[in-house]
Amino acid sequence: MNFNEYPIDSLMYITNRPEIVFTHGKGSWIYDSNGKRYLDFIQGWAVNSLGHCNDGMIEALNQQAGLLINPSPAFYNEPMAKLAGLLTRHSCFDKVFFANSGAEANEGAIKLARKWGRKFKDGAFEIITFDHSFHGRTLATMSASGKPGWDTIYAPQVPGFPKADLNDIASVERLINAKTVAVMLEPIQGEGGVIPATREFMQQLRELTKKHNILLIVDEVQSGCGRAGTLFAYQLSGIEPDIMTLGKGIGGGVPLAALLSKAEIAVFEAGDQGGTYNGNPLMTAVGYSVISQLTAPGFLEGVRSRGDYLRTKLLELSEERGFKGERGEGLLRALLLGKDIGNQIVEKARDMQPDGVLLNAARPNLLRFMPALNVTTAEIDQMLAMLRSVLDSL
Ligand SMILES: *Cc1c(COP(=O)(O)O)cnc(C)c1O
Repeated sequence: MNFNEYPIDSLMYITNRPEIVFTHGKGSWIYDSNGKRYLDFIQGWAVNSLGHCNDGMIEALNQQAGLLINPSPAFYNEPMAKLAGLLTRHSCFDKVFFANSGAEANEGAIKLARKWGRKFKDGAFEIITFDHSFHGRTLATMSASGKPGWDTIYAPQVPGFPKADLNDIASVERLINAKTVAVMLEPIQGEGGVIPATREFMQQLRELTKKHNILLIVDEVQSGCGRAGTLFAYQLSGIEPDIMTLGKGIGGGVPLAALLSKAEIAVFEAGDQGGTYNGNPLMTAVGYSVISQLTAPGFLEGVRSRGDYLRTKLLELSEERGFKGERGEGLLRALLLGKDIGNQIVEKARDMQPDGVLLNAARPNLLRFMPALNVTTAEIDQMLAMLRSVLDSL
């Protein structure tokens, strides 16, 4: 097949995309229309938690497609209830609302916190967020994000999101006032360059928010669902947040997201929150398959051991090439290059022959690794061998 056969000009321009059309994938490999294969360490942007076209997910999708696709969000359905039960059983939360994207789940978290503030805190509405954070692309979640430049692209912003510095509790404390209703953070900043909040900082935040009677919201759209080696990244710090959002990995590649809260925080009244596709059986059936596989005995231990393996190998590579080390949790890791060669590496790795490798430079001076959680150590070795040959060619 020829690239010119595809009417790509009909697609609205939003970003520079390489001249490749992907047609199919299996596990850690994805194939383009010319039959070239790529070892995939992006996996749909940390989305395909079980790799491409996982058998359990295919079965769940096929089976549900023949049973019931959408009865309307005004009714209960079986997969929606089963998945909610699975999530509450495996977390510290009691209530779940399903959404279609991470941004939509975060919008829900912001609304829930503001509603709680209206009810119990004299109309408090400000949510303290962090520099370099990423919470999505709706107007409110862009305003909540600390991404440079995002305060002006679609100005004016949604007000009420003062910014603190990650891992600096004094910077959070300074922003707290009578209007503050919550603090919201990613336990590991993903788009910001894989920067973990320290265990100490998470504990200080929990203590500070309790003291001031404000909510602690964790955006686990990227860090959740096994990515950090525990089912949820907040579990690494031994605290219990009030609200959590999930996206990306929960659907294993299909559009599914969730907003979870403690029972006493779930203060929506009839009509306050909704959405046509919320909890639709087709997507929640897939989510149920994904979370069941992630919570199967031994699975998360495997993620932790492969995460340790990747960490050790990245440190070796860093030492060998004079880079600046690595950081991350589980299978969300970054190699710190110390210079702005990330994008060059990404392009060369993709264009390698005969096989390519898909990598991501979340920032120009680092590479971010977000493979399938069931990636093998052999595939990790293969990725590293390919990366070494790209580095040799620079
Ligand atoms: C990707 C991401 C989002 C946005 O999710 P979408 O599904 O793209 O709306 C929000 N928060 C974090 C931490 C993310 O990584």
